Amino acid sequence: MYDVIIIGAGVSGAAVARELSRYRLKVCVLEKEEDVCCGTSKANSALIHSGYDAAPGSLMAKLNVAGNTMMEELSLELDFPYKRIGSLMVCTSNEDLPQLQTLYSRGIQNGVKGLSVITRKEEIREMEPNLADDVVAVLHAASAGIVCPFGLNIAMAENAAANGVEFFFDTKVERIFSNKKEQRGFQIKTSKGILETRCIVNAAGVYADVFHNMVSNRKIHITARAGEYCLLDKSAGEHVNHTIFALPTKWGKGVLVSPTIHGNLLVGPTAVDIEDKEDTATTREGLTELIEKAGMSVRKLPIRQVITSFTGLRAHEDNHDFLIGELSDAPGFVDCAGIESPGLTASPAIGLMVADIIREKLQPQVNPDFNGKRKGILNPNTLSKEERAALIAAKPAYGNVICRCETVTEGEIIDAIRRPLGAKSLDGVKRRVRAGMGRCQAGFCSPRVMEILSRELGIDMKKVTKNGAGSELLIGTNKDRL
Ligand SMILES: Cc1cc2nc3c(=O)[nH]c(=O)nc-3n(C[C@H](O)[C@H](O)[C@H](O)COP(=O)(O)OP(=O)(O)OC[C@H]3O[C@@H](n4cnc5c(N)ncnc54)[C@H](O)[C@@H]3O)c2cc1C
Repeated sequence: MYDVIIIGAGVSGAAVARELSRYRLKVCVLEKEEDVCCGTSKANSALIHSGYDAAPGSLMAKLNVAGNTMMEELSLELDFPYKRIGSLMVCTSNEDLPQLQTLYSRGIQNGVKGLSVITRKEEIREMEPNLADDVVAVLHAASAGIVCPFGLNIAMAENAAANGVEFFFDTKVERIFSNKKEQRGFQIKTSKGILETRCIVNAAGVYADVFHNMVSNRKIHITARAGEYCLLDKSAGEHVNHTIFALPTKWGKGVLVSPTIHGNLLVGPTAVDIEDKEDTATTREGLTELIEKAGMSVRKLPIRQVITSFTGLRAHEDNHDFLIGELSDAPGFVDCAGIESPGLTASPAIGLMVADIIREKLQPQVNPDFNGKRKGILNPNTLSKEERAALIAAKPAYGNVICRCETVTEGEIIDAIRRPLGAKSLDGVKRRVRAGMGRCQAGFCSPRVMEILSRELGIDMKKVTKNGAGSELLIGTNKDRL
């Protein structure tokens, strides 16, 4: 019998798991995919929003600002990449100025610090030389930042695991039943058998409505809202210094242009409601739309530098707010649903809020062994020449560059595989150390990463996958076919 079972190992589930590991509780996370960070948490704008966008009084507004405030300290504690670069909301018409002012006032109401409206053209140009020529004002949010979404998700999950939370991957939750035998708690039927628990945290992203509706009579509905992106090469990464948002106008909602934490340039997203909650395809129309729109706020966008495109799915709940709380008609079942943007930003605050609900309910003792610190994967590029030479002398694998585009060494890949909740696939390695994230998009390094995975995991090359069962990359050897 578990005290708490969390469904989903995205940022929400991982944040809750880490917060719960502060207590003496038997907790596990069930994830249908082969790794953490395989849902929406891996495909988004990777921004730490300041918090002026959400409606005052909403849970989104409150947890956005709280999460933003917590992010810097968390990044130091858990050693993941984060930088506060500020954002500019761009207004290109005097007609739309009142709207910019409304966002400013909303931000103040939400408690956002460091907000200002700037109208002096020289000042704007100095801050951001590549903004469109017709910019008349910007809303500057100094507290906005950028983060590695994989880094944040993986760091919280690793730290939860180090503090005793169990993770079960490739384990799909299929049904939830009230535990009649025990007169309390739940039985969860998974693809790997039945588990029992006193409480459930429903952090299943776009599928959170399915589990909510299995146990509650008050139904909710989540729509998958697709957002497509283009990612540009690092050579375009300095085209802007801030995250640039376009003010929504009568012509529609704008798209953002932002540096990423690893030095690329990101353009997107679109917003299209779709039926299929697994459909992360990109479309010609979507990509054309976002390139056109981005050009309205940023000039000379080096769009020929696109190296890849991708789609993320927002878990849009009909009332457009986070739904977090224990269900009154299903005691012990705690929703963490409707976590669309700014869910990444809010995740540390979401973790705290859900853990508080569980703490009040189960009254657990504090875990005296909890250690909130975690060391990330050593990146030799952050060392001095002398330090790097010493590292390579001690561990030659750090002198063997596997991914040329991102200069990722064998030593880093081995660390990514061997650490707690380590990588088991090419994408797992990619999310942890960026091998395959660069200009050639894994064209050169895939076979070599596969060899390392095969060797480290003790599996045949034919069993190495891109992202879990069914995505094996090799079908046999030439000799087998003779
Ligand atoms: C286009 C776009 C842009 C965004 N930009 C930003 C941004 O810049 N800043 C920001 O703060 N937020 C942003 N967000 C929002 C943010 O990405 C999400 O709020 C956040 O990632 C949600 O995390 P989650 O853990 O709730 O969901 P997910 O990451 O989707 O995790 C849910 C997990 O549950 C698992 N699961 C589902 N069903 C089952 C089952 N039956 N059994 C077991 N496991 C299951 C899934 O596999 C998945 O891993 C953006 C989102 C999108 C789509």
